[in-house]
Amino acid sequence: CGIVGYLGNREAYPVLIKGLKRLEYRGYDSAGVALINSNDDLNVYKTKGKVDDLENFCSDKDITGKVGIAHTRWATHGEPSSTNAHPHYSESKKLAIIHNGIIENYAEIKKNLIAEGVEFRSETDTEVLIQLIEFIEIKKNLDLLSAVQVALKQVIGAYAIAILDKNNPHQIIAARKQSPLVVGIGKDNQEFFLGSDASPIVEFTDQVVYLEDGNIAVLRLGEPLKVVDIHNVDLNPEVKTVDIA
Ligand code: GLU
Repeated sequence: CGIVGYLGNREAYPVLIKGLKRLEYRGYDSAGVALINSNDDLNVYKTKGKVDDLENFCSDKDITGKVGIAHTRWATHGEPSSTNAHPHYSESKKLAIIHNGIIENYAEIKKNLIAEGVEFRSETDTEVLIQLIEFIEIKKNLDLLSAVQVALKQVIGAYAIAILDKNNPHQIIAARKQSPLVVGIGKDNQEFFLGSDASPIVEFTDQVVYLEDGNIAVLRLGEPLKVVDIHNVDLNPEVKTVDIA
């Protein structure tokens, strides 16, 4: 039940693990992380159990990378298992998503995607969303942001999501509807953070944006935070200074 993200010049993994620990109070049954390393490999590691179990699982893995997303899951669709834990890859493994919430019409979307030949790896509602996004990207030849916008128009439910794209290693796309999501902005936009609340963020920056329902945020290294809606209308995010004393 928690989301953490990092994009910047530090190693992402320690920031993400620390952030997940700050969100442990929310409760969860599994944990996972996705990282893009300097060769642009998109690595996903996930396990049933605690954040400590995830760290043990990762002890012999490549955990390098300056961009990543991490998740604690409270299962709603599909039993708690490493397969159903987040992040979930798209079919080509080009994209990875983490999600808190519920996609209510996932069964219908999944049926349509299976009819199109898409193969699923998990029982989750979440995987349906990332498969739909990649399917739209390819079928309609759209960039990731546009594909996310088209996909979210079809989705009924509640979500806070974050997506990594191995072809765009200096970017995270995030969105929310009825599930909380906070963006932290580092100095000169050289660093961005994501969190279900501000607790994974405040030790790094006091500049935060509390995303609102319907917001899609595009975090790009060195660029100001971009927030749009599903119709691609530009929204002015209100940057707040949080008290970190
Ligand atoms: N519905 C998703 C799942 O069961 C996300 C659960 C959550 O919010 O952690 O995998």
